[in-house]
Amino acid sequence: MNKIEIYLNNAEDTQRLGALIAQGASGRLVIALIGDLGAGKTTLTQGLAKGLGVEDAVSSPTFLMMNEYCSQEVPLYHFDLYRLQEDLDLDSRAVSNLKLELDELMESFPRVIAVVEWLNLWEDFCAEYSELRVSIEYTNDGGRKATLTDRGNEAEKVLRHCQENLASFPK
Ligand code: ADP
Ligand code: MG
Repeated sequence: MNKIEIYLNNAEDTQRLGALIAQGASGRLVIALIGDLGAGKTTLTQGLAKGLGVEDAVSSPTFLMMNEYCSQEVPLYHFDLYRLQEDLDLDSRAVSNLKLELDELMESFPRVIAVVEWLNLWEDFCAEYSELRVSIEYTNDGGRKATLTDRGNEAEKVLRHCQENLASFPK
């Protein structure tokens, strides 16, 4: 597992990190976004979408649990597991359908990004896929610190791409 820390002074930095991640992705990738409410998970997803040329507005799929965005380059799927806090029964049909949807889209596309928020509520959701984990924390100065870790080849490649292109981020 490799790890890098990136400081994000403002929402624009968070978006730029999303775009940088998108730029480095060329296979099947899960991006797990970990962070408290307001940390910047949706902001980062907006940057990802922009980086992929998605024109639709990106919002949190909290009530739907999954949003799909069309892109000329790489299809982007946005899962939000937050509602599992209420429906903790992982055997319920809606929840197992969500897992089926993930498996199906990971099989269907050679290039695809699945963003998953609140993965900590269901750690096994994407256990078999290469995962880039982005944990976002508040810093004392009102900005954020993002910690990136990888699991599997695709995520390792994306993390390396980020590492090589950090010159424009604050130290
Ligand atoms: P989440 O989806 O994690 O709940 P959001 O992406 O909605 O959080 O972001 C919450 C707020 O934090 C937004 O107003 C956004 O502009 C702001 N924000 C995002 N990244 C940063 C950052 N690096 N520094 C300061 N504010 C940020
Ligand atoms: Mg959000």
